[in-house]
Amino acid sequence: MKERLLQELEQIKEAGNYREIRYVKPVNASRLIYEGREYLNLCSNSYLSLHLHPDVMRAAKDAIDEYGAGTCSSRSVSGSIDLYARLEDEVASFKGYEKALIFSNGYLANIGIIATLAGAHDVIFSDELNHSSIIDSTRLSRARRVIYRHLDIEDLEKKIRRESVRTRKSKKFIITETVFSMDGDVAPLREIFNLKEKYGLHVIVDEAHATGVFGEGGRGVEELHGLSGLMDVQMGTFGKALGSFGAFALADSLTIDYLINRARTFMYTTALPASALAAARSALQLIRDNGSFKKELWENLDYMRRGLLHLGFDLKQSEGPIVPIVVGEDSKAVRMQKMLLEKGIFLQAIRPPTVPSGTSRLRLTVVRGLTKEEMDKALEAIGAAGKEVGLI
Ligand code: PMP
Repeated sequence: MKERLLQELEQIKEAGNYREIRYVKPVNASRLIYEGREYLNLCSNSYLSLHLHPDVMRAAKDAIDEYGAGTCSSRSVSGSIDLYARLEDEVASFKGYEKALIFSNGYLANIGIIATLAGAHDVIFSDELNHSSIIDSTRLSRARRVIYRHLDIEDLEKKIRRESVRTRKSKKFIITETVFSMDGDVAPLREIFNLKEKYGLHVIVDEAHATGVFGEGGRGVEELHGLSGLMDVQMGTFGKALGSFGAFALADSLTIDYLINRARTFMYTTALPASALAAARSALQLIRDNGSFKKELWENLDYMRRGLLHLGFDLKQSEGPIVPIVVGEDSKAVRMQKMLLEKGIFLQAIRPPTVPSGTSRLRLTVVRGLTKEEMDKALEAIGAAGKEVGLI
């Protein structure tokens, strides 16, 4: 076996696609230490910079004092601490759903939701750029997978029609991220909802990158499109704008009850520690009670986006804090990443299989904690690197 692993790793290295873990330590919301040097962090998913907010950190510390460091068992085996019920009620009411169920992370939530609700006789229509956790979930469900072109409603409807003729009896699901993790573009949720109504389909949405960021009250893309609480199931995470860890499914009581009884990634894994739950509760309260976090993020976003467009970068259809700078070749993306690192900017070259081959990119994220001076520094460095590789 070892020989095979070695060979494959060599191939990955030859393709310029080898990954190494880089160990870092946060200084504040926009800066980190890497190999003894301070860098500007342009790849954080903590869009509202709440993971370092004093209220959120205090809530986590207090919860450890009250409940201890870990829960050390699954919720169904050893009982569930009351923080779960409180956070589930709060997140369900924030998002406009009847009930919530917390999972240990988004990957497990997607598997729990999708592989439990869809079965071998069903059909899943999945956007071609859906996250790996959705791809793995659809495989595990054993449902027939029909991939539609990215954000392409016409292609989706054509495929729904074709499948309706083939299989009238099965349940049919549309599954999409609402904000795509590597492209930062937004799913046409209104049109997807119309297809749900027209063909009697079930819709599952992944609001991992939208929660806290999109919609008037930061409730996500459902809120942005006036569709709060109207999907069959919504998945969201506490690990991005909410600055903590963990994830949730939102649905009606019946569906949540079914997941509690059947979702294996809920039943057979250790429950989140109290500190993660308390931090998420605190962040949720901050977002709910104070619109300025989101407002400040969007001010930064507008500034960075305008700056990058002015430099001549093509930001594709991205709308929010995820800004893709598509370079193309893997090696070019890595070269650009290295140039930026030299100039004190820490971000990631994203290559296949995370993105389709030929679309390697820098995925930069804009967060609330960045100062104007830091954004100016970033724009100057990204502009210079973009010129160097012939991108602008
Ligand atoms: N869905 C999407 C769209 C994601 O980007 C991610 C994380 N990158 C997940 C699900 C998984 O969430 P978690 O990190 O909490 O496992």
